[in-house]
Amino acid sequence: LTMERPAEKPAFEPLDFQSGATPIWCPGCGHYGVLSALEHALAMHGRPPHDIVLVSGIGCSSRLPAYTSCYGFHGVHGRALPFATGLKLARPDLEVIAVGGDGDGYSIGGNHFVHACRRDLNMVYIVMDNRVYGMTKGQPSPTTEADWDSDIAPGGLGLRPVNPVALAIAAGARFVARGFSGRSRELAELIVEGLRWPGFAYIEVLSPCVAFRPEKFSWKASSAPAAKTVEDDRAAAFAAVLAGDEASTGILFRDHAAGPHPPVAKPGTIEEIESRFAVCG
Ligand code: SF4
Ligand code: MG
Repeated sequence: LTMERPAEKPAFEPLDFQSGATPIWCPGCGHYGVLSALEHALAMHGRPPHDIVLVSGIGCSSRLPAYTSCYGFHGVHGRALPFATGLKLARPDLEVIAVGGDGDGYSIGGNHFVHACRRDLNMVYIVMDNRVYGMTKGQPSPTTEADWDSDIAPGGLGLRPVNPVALAIAAGARFVARGFSGRSRELAELIVEGLRWPGFAYIEVLSPCVAFRPEKFSWKASSAPAAKTVEDDRAAAFAAVLAGDEASTGILFRDHAAGPHPPVAKPGTIEEIESRFAVCG
């Protein structure tokens, strides 16, 4: 919380947001495309790396903060959103971006996802959804198809998968988008839209795991039409995502009609921030 601020630069390049650390993701993992899209989006957004904090939980995709030059917080499994929420409340002046995967975000952190959607704090949440737990060797995740056959779940789990964009809309999210790691330019534009949205912006990203779900590269060949953006009508947006193609990308729902987003406190001094948490003496 005592950050030294380098002199402001007039503009940024994607390179300015790279840490120089080499990702240890498998060659071909979709998350490379998400990282690249994020770097381009941050350069377009125009805020310096020291104004941005990336918060993650656990999983392959949760390694992403270490590969950027922004501030980062690598938390515990499923808890990216609670950490991000606390940070945003303490430092509303910072750009807070939570990132993670489908297991982390929709299972272990599923409760937090629902409440972040309704809390509507001004932050971005990017979920790299590969329909599997990659880091722990290929268990079905909440978004895995019921009949997906694997060594760990022979014959499939037989459970209906979560539709995360429908869940977000039902939970009150006001900005819901879907991107694909293989279309990095479009994804960068979606992330910029999310950064400029004045409340909680949720972006589900189809990001294939080449180790355990390589067939999901079929998303790349998909002829799914671009998603049609539904404005303001939550019921229509919910119906559209249930009926739509899982590979359609774009902004799915934007709700301007619900009025102002919840205000957050102005940034305080370090003493004021500490005093808010000094409840135990
Ligand atoms: Fe990516 Fe899957 Fe490898 Fe993890 S296991 S780095 S998700 S390809
Ligand atoms: Mg996953």
